[in-house]
Amino acid sequence: VKEHPAFVDLPDAYSVLFPALQRLDPPDESRTTCHACPQAQIPGGPEDPDRRYLHDVRCCTYQPRLPNYLAGRALRRGGVGADRIRARIRREPEGVGVFGIHGTRAQAERYSAGTFGRDRELTCPFWVPGPLSCSIWRDRNSVCRTWHCRTTDGARSLAYWDTVRDALQVLELRLAAWLVRQVPEQDRPADGAGVEDWERYYISTTDRLLAATPAELGQIDMAEADGLALMLRIYQSMLHAPVPEQVVPIIAEIEDRGDNLALGGYSRLDMVTVPRSYMALYGLLLSGLPWREALEKAHEAGASFDAATIDLLWRRGLLSWVPGEEPREVIVYRELAAEHGLQLDDGARGAPPIAG
Ligand code: SF4
Ligand code: SF4
Repeated sequence: VKEHPAFVDLPDAYSVLFPALQRLDPPDESRTTCHACPQAQIPGGPEDPDRRYLHDVRCCTYQPRLPNYLAGRALRRGGVGADRIRARIRREPEGVGVFGIHGTRAQAERYSAGTFGRDRELTCPFWVPGPLSCSIWRDRNSVCRTWHCRTTDGARSLAYWDTVRDALQVLELRLAAWLVRQVPEQDRPADGAGVEDWERYYISTTDRLLAATPAELGQIDMAEADGLALMLRIYQSMLHAPVPEQVVPIIAEIEDRGDNLALGGYSRLDMVTVPRSYMALYGLLLSGLPWREALEKAHEAGASFDAATIDLLWRRGLLSWVPGEEPREVIVYRELAAEHGLQLDDGARGAPPIAG
């Protein structure tokens, strides 16, 4: 797989169980600039409707489900990450178990699209202050690896990343369960066990995974692998598609911003601000005019949009394919997905799923 932060230090076993991982060519997602987070409030700054997240904890207002072998790998790595995991185990026995570590029921009840990014009580136990924020970055889970608050190709990127997340999540669940079965029952920590017992156990699952042979791993059921690989091919084929001659305009959300309008297409986290005169162009596109003709007519009426605006609106999900007129390979793959009963994702963005 092309070098991308989402795939750094994935366990080798993943490629054995899901070879499609090796053929991925992910978008770079250069717009997700965590070192200068576009969603973070500016301390002391004016209220900004596009900056809603707490300035320090941001999207780490989340309780990841860390499978046993990743918890063990972070513990073995040592340093702040290991300290944070020990502190999490010590603080609250709920959510610490043989499959791994996850949040508590109370945290799950508190978590929603409205509290994500904004509720300090939901801060991840592995979060640390500073620009990098994650103390277990090399061992973070599927959700944390694939979450991008803004993408380079709107809903197409999101659908791609959500499918990578689903594939990694299946791997995490299957491997964690397989590793539990590798440890004799009497050697597994009981509820309420001490930090040392949990640490020893989690590290033992990491060691067992490292020692697993391809033949052993081959016994793990990966019934979803073919479907997930096909979905990844579909979404890969849609990435960076050029703007077609004819498009359908979409506005999922609209906000009044004085002389301008903020339009939401694929995500509330990536609104596009346009002059109000965009609504004239919107009407022309809605009437079915190809976008070049619509631009000419809009120019005659005094509006100054150009091909770059159209490309921007396309990438942000404010323009879409006319139904049934997607590129040929997308239609073929979609038909294949329907044949296999696969549910395709429209890439709409909310908060990441808590069960990750
Ligand atoms: S992924 Fe999180 S930290 Fe990174 S830019 Fe987006 S909200 Fe900010
Ligand atoms: S594991 Fe790391 S990336 Fe994930 S929520 Fe926690 S601090 Fe953020």
